[in-house]
Amino acid sequence: MRIATITNWAYGLTLLLTFGSGAAFLLAVDADKDERAAVEERSAYLRIAEDIDVIIERLTDQARLYAMRGDPAHKLAWQRDRDGANAIDRMTVRLRALPLSPAETEALREADRDLANVETLERAAIAAVDRGDRAAATGLLYGDRYLALDGDVEQSLNRFKAAMRARTAGELTAARETADRWDDVARALLGITAALFLAVLYFILSRRVARPLTHMSNVVTRLAERDFEADLPDDQHQDEIGEVTQALRLFRRSTIERERLERERDEDRRIKDLIARMMHRMQGCDVEAELADVVSCYAPQIFPDLAGHIFVYDHARGRLSTIGQWQEPTLSLPDFAPSFCWGLRRGHPHRSNARGEDICCQHIGDIDGQDCLCVPLMAQGGTVGMLYFEAREEGGGRYGERSIYLDLMSENIGLALANIQLRATLGALATRDPLTGLSNRRHLDEVFNLERALAESQGTPLGCLMIDIDHFKRFNDEFGHDAGDLVMQHVAQVLLSHARERDLACRFGGEEFTMLLPGRDATAAAERAEDIRQTIRKVALAYRGRPLHPVTVSIGVAAYPAQSDGASLLSVADSALLEAKAAGRDRVVIAGETPPDQPSLFRAAG
Ligand code: GH3
Ligand code: MG
Ligand code: MG
Repeated sequence: MRIATITNWAYGLTLLLTFGSGAAFLLAVDADKDERAAVEERSAYLRIAEDIDVIIERLTDQARLYAMRGDPAHKLAWQRDRDGANAIDRMTVRLRALPLSPAETEALREADRDLANVETLERAAIAAVDRGDRAAATGLLYGDRYLALDGDVEQSLNRFKAAMRARTAGELTAARETADRWDDVARALLGITAALFLAVLYFILSRRVARPLTHMSNVVTRLAERDFEADLPDDQHQDEIGEVTQALRLFRRSTIERERLERERDEDRRIKDLIARMMHRMQGCDVEAELADVVSCYAPQIFPDLAGHIFVYDHARGRLSTIGQWQEPTLSLPDFAPSFCWGLRRGHPHRSNARGEDICCQHIGDIDGQDCLCVPLMAQGGTVGMLYFEAREEGGGRYGERSIYLDLMSENIGLALANIQLRATLGALATRDPLTGLSNRRHLDEVFNLERALAESQGTPLGCLMIDIDHFKRFNDEFGHDAGDLVMQHVAQVLLSHARERDLACRFGGEEFTMLLPGRDATAAAERAEDIRQTIRKVALAYRGRPLHPVTVSIGVAAYPAQSDGASLLSVADSALLEAKAAGRDRVVIAGETPPDQPSLFRAAG
């Protein structure tokens, strides 16, 4: 029942009981008045009866004294009482005016009659005295008849008094009982009112209102302090407190839900912000190692509970190898074939965990409670690598709820990786000669300008070799163009194998090559040239089973600053090459020096 209803009922009942109790008190007071009236009435009757007694006695005395003494004063006193004041009549009239019972009326009537008889005798006695017959008067007043009549008067008056006493005693008792009864009723009603008030005070105010309100107040205070452990009992009462309790529980639940949503939104914002920052940095990466550094820096911030690797697919080797890792992953191999990974096989993220929900990838070792995820990095329709995650915590990697971020990351890292690889390929195409794999003329110019500037600023030597295959045209003419290409590739390989540190071997054009040797002077450069010349001519080449002519080269050598200034180094070396050609080919000529007569002579001279 609702508290308002109970309170209204209690209020109504209390009001009713209070009125009832008040009315009972009024009735009790009324009964008390009746009692007082009965007492007063009885004392009034008794007083009148006593007065009558006194007057009768006085009349008898005056009459007798008159009879005995003959003194008219006694007669006058008798007449004053009897006739003048007529005290007795007045008394009896007063008595009759009061509400008398039939028995009292009867007794009073008898007393009245007896008094009349006594009066008759006294009048006769006074008349006898007036006649001078005092003996007769004394005889009458002291005679048996007078005494008998006097006794009758007394008896009838006593009867009247007894009847009156009996009646007033009854009335008194009845009035007293009524007063007591109403008094009891009033007290009982007052008691019930008090009990009702106390019951309402205890059960409603204390137990149903004050106690739950105190609890609610505590819970609200704790909720305001964001302590969501605080909760209220499930109050099923259909009253105001029950409704407020349910409303508070609802408020708590919605606050917790709102907090959760806010936390999720903050976390979402944080992760997206980190991914955006990672994307910006990835766009500035030139090589895979830089990209790996960026990913290794941001991945642990995005998912602090996950360790991982970034793998790159090496097309030449047909394998995936790690280029970066974070938070010390322990399970995956650092290098493996794509077939070892179900994610790469299917082209979709693949989860391997200890619960055995799916097949485990082969590149992952002994899973012991861990939860792993492989996310292929796809770009331009192909696989460029893979992101690998490893969660060792109890709750697993929560990959399902993070899929949106994982997709975003893998998509962008894949694109960035493909972009870097594309740029590397384009760069190689722009700087490499496709036939020999050496640097092309363009790249030579770039490197030459750099090395020249360096040499000039640091005052270090810069050696240069210009190399030309002797009678190359014959290979083309006699064995075909492909055989010529083969010879060119052979020479290129020898040049590459003789390049050290910062040395650069490049195809200058046609069958002519250039080598830059930073830090080498002409002598050191010529020694290297001689090594190259001899290595080339030592190899006997064959094309399609047919042995080719021995391959020889002529080499012109120059070095900054001894033979040339920086700008004309290449042309000075080229001039030395022409001299070597002119001197009979298959030899090394240092610019400014006399070409050797025989190829072997150079070494002897050097
Ligand atoms: P020399 O000893 O004076 O240098 O004589 P040579 O025959 O080597 O020189 P020449 O300039 O007469 O001939 C160079 C030839 O190289 C002409 C050209 O057809 C050939 N050649 C240029 N580039 C290539 C190429 O990429 N592949 C092949 N197979 N031949 C090429
Ligand atoms: Mg040539
Ligand atoms: Mg040539």
